Amino acid sequence: MENMIFENNNWKKTSQNSNIPLYTSKDQPKLIHKPVLIIGGVHGDEPEGVWLCEKLLEHLRGVSSPTHQDWVLIPCLNPDGFKKRQRTNANGVDLNRNFPSSDWNPTAKELRYFPGPKPGSELETQAVIEAIDTFNPRLIIHCHSWKPSIIYTASTVPKEAEILSRASGYELQSDIGYPTPGSLGQYGYFQRSIPVICIEEKEGAQKEETWSRFKNAFESILNE
Ligand SMILES: [Zn+2]
Repeated sequence: MENMIFENNNWKKTSQNSNIPLYTSKDQPKLIHKPVLIIGGVHGDEPEGVWLCEKLLEHLRGVSSPTHQDWVLIPCLNPDGFKKRQRTNANGVDLNRNFPSSDWNPTAKELRYFPGPKPGSELETQAVIEAIDTFNPRLIIHCHSWKPSIIYTASTVPKEAEILSRASGYELQSDIGYPTPGSLGQYGYFQRSIPVICIEEKEGAQKEETWSRFKNAFESILNE
C-alpha cells in the first residue's frame, strides 16, 4: 500500500510558465501542522539537492505509514535554471539573494549573485514566502551542493542539523563563512523566526550516493 500524500504538480509557475510542484504529508494541506519545509533546486546548477529531494519524495511515497512529523516538499524551486544548469532563474536572479530580509543588498560581487531589482521580486521567492505563510513551518531545510557541510541559521543548533551532520559526517557550521544578504537563511530565521538548515552536498555526488548519505537522517527527522 502506498502512503497518501498530496501532490500539486502545478502549485506555482515561474516567469517562463514552468511548473513548481509542491508535495505535502497529508492529502488535505489544511491538516498540515507545523511541518518541516524542504526545498531543493534553489540554485539550478546544483542538481544534487534536487536529486536528494526527488529520492526523499520517492521514499515518502513508498512507506506504508505516514511520517510522525508533517512535511512540505518543493523538490525544484528553480526549474528554469535547473533545465539550463545555471545558478540563477530565467531573469538572471540568484534566488538565495532575493529574499526580503533586512540585510537585502542591491549590489552583487559577481553577476551570478545578482539579487534582483528589489527584494522578493521573483515568483520563485514569492512562492517560498507563500509556502511559509500557508504552512507555518517549524523548520526549513534547503538542499544545495558545494563543499560538503551542514550550515544552520539559528541562535542554537537545531537538533535536525546535528542529525544531518552526524549521518553524513559533514561539518556542522553556523555560518557559511561570508555574508549572504537576502538568503533564505537570513529571511527565514531573522524575519520569520524559523531555523533554517542548508545542506551542502558534495559537488558532483551521484544520486544514490547522496540518498544513502542522508536517508536515515531524514527518516529520523520526520519520524521523531
Ligand atoms: Zn546553492
